Amino acid sequence: MKNVYLDNNATTRIDDRVVEKMLPYLKENYANPSSMYDTAHLTAKAIEKAREQVAEFLGLNSPKGIIFTSCATESANTAIKGVVNQYGSESKKHIITTQVEHPCVLSVYENLEKKGYRTTYVGVNENGELNIDNLLSKITPETILLSVMHANNETGAIYPVYEIASEAKKINKDIKVFVDGVQAAGKFPIKLEGTDIDFYSISGHKFHAPKGVGALYVKKGVLFEPFMLGGHQEGSLRAGTQNTPYIVALGEAAKLAMENMDYELTEVKRLRDKFETNILKALPNAKLNSKSSERVVNTSNIGFEYIEGELILLYLNDLGIYASSGSACTSGSLDPSHVLRAQKVPFTSLHGSIRFSLSRFTTEDEIDYAIEKVPEVIRKLAKMSPFQAELNAMGL
Ligand SMILES: *Cc1c(COP(=O)(O)O)cnc(C)c1O
Repeated sequence: MKNVYLDNNATTRIDDRVVEKMLPYLKENYANPSSMYDTAHLTAKAIEKAREQVAEFLGLNSPKGIIFTSCATESANTAIKGVVNQYGSESKKHIITTQVEHPCVLSVYENLEKKGYRTTYVGVNENGELNIDNLLSKITPETILLSVMHANNETGAIYPVYEIASEAKKINKDIKVFVDGVQAAGKFPIKLEGTDIDFYSISGHKFHAPKGVGALYVKKGVLFEPFMLGGHQEGSLRAGTQNTPYIVALGEAAKLAMENMDYELTEVKRLRDKFETNILKALPNAKLNSKSSERVVNTSNIGFEYIEGELILLYLNDLGIYASSGSACTSGSLDPSHVLRAQKVPFTSLHGSIRFSLSRFTTEDEIDYAIEKVPEVIRKLAKMSPFQAELNAMGL
C-alpha cells in the first residue's frame, strides 16, 4: 500500500535525528531542570542549547526572548490575551487581525469581542494578498494589538509582516504586533532581529519535531500578562516544569530546518511545481487557489470545479494519497474554508478545494504517483457529478 503523505501543513513526520536527540532525555536524563544537582544542570543546559538553536532559527542575536510552550495555540493565546490584559483599558479596546488567520487567533479575537473588545478583521484580494494600506488605515489611537500571520496554512500566501509591523508603529507607536509564524518556520529563512515584531509563534510538529511543543518569541522590553501562572520557569513568563525531551527536539528540528533550507527552497519547490503544473494541465476544471505572488514552496491549494472535496479525499485515501480540504482545525465542520471564502473563491470550486502540502521527505516517485492518480480520481468523480453538463462543456 502506498503512503503518499501530502498533508505536511497539518503535521509532519518527526525526523529520525530529532528522535535520537530526545531519547536520552526520555530515558536517563529525566531530572527536573529547576533542581540543584549535576544531572538537573545537565537538563537545564540542554534546554538552554535548544533556546539558542531556536533563536538562531528565528534570526535573533540572543536566545533571551524565547519562551517554550506546549504548542503554537498556547503561544498565540499567551501573546494575544497577554497584550490585552497588560495594555487594555476603557480607552484602549481595539484589536486588529486578518480574516485568514488560523483558528488559534480568530477564536481568541471572537472571545475578546464577547468581552467588549472592538475587533477589525481585514480581508484579502482574490489572490489571497493583503492590501497593506487598507490594513494600516484601520489603526487608531485606541488600537493595542495587530495580529498577522507570516504564511497561510491553507494557501501558502506569505504576508510582509516586517513591513507591516514597522509601518503600524509609525502610525501608533504603542501598538503591539503578534505574528503567527507556524507555517513560515522551515519554509523560508526568518529574520526577527531588528524588526518591529513583538511576538512570534512557532510549532514543533509543523517542522519535523513532535506534537506538544512550541515557542513564543517576545521582543526585549515588551511586557505581557503571563498565561500560565505557577513556578518560576521560563523567567516566570510560562510556569510549568519544562518538557526537556520535547524542547531538545524543537532545538534539533530548528537546526535541521536551517541545514535543509536550500533543499526546501529548490527541491521541495521543484516537486511542488511539477505536481501543480501537471495537475492544472491534466484537468480543465482545476483552478489554483494558491495565487499570492509571494508564497511558500511546499503548498498547492487547488479547487476542482463541480466536484465534492470530501469525496476527492476519500478516493485519494483509498489510493494511499493523503491531503486535506481546508485546515485540519476546521474540518469536522462542513463549512467551506474561511480562508478561501475571504479570497472569494467561486462556490463552483470552493467545495472541491484540496490542499496538497509537501515536505523534505516527499519523493519524486510519490509526486509522480500523485500526478497519475489525482486526475484519475477527478475524472471518475466527474462521471458521478450532478453537474454533468458543466463538466462536459469543459471536456470532462
Ligand atoms: C498548526 C497551526 C497552528 C497551531 O499549532 P499547534 O502547535 O498545533 O497549536 C497555528 N497557526 C498555524 C498557521 C498553523 O498552521
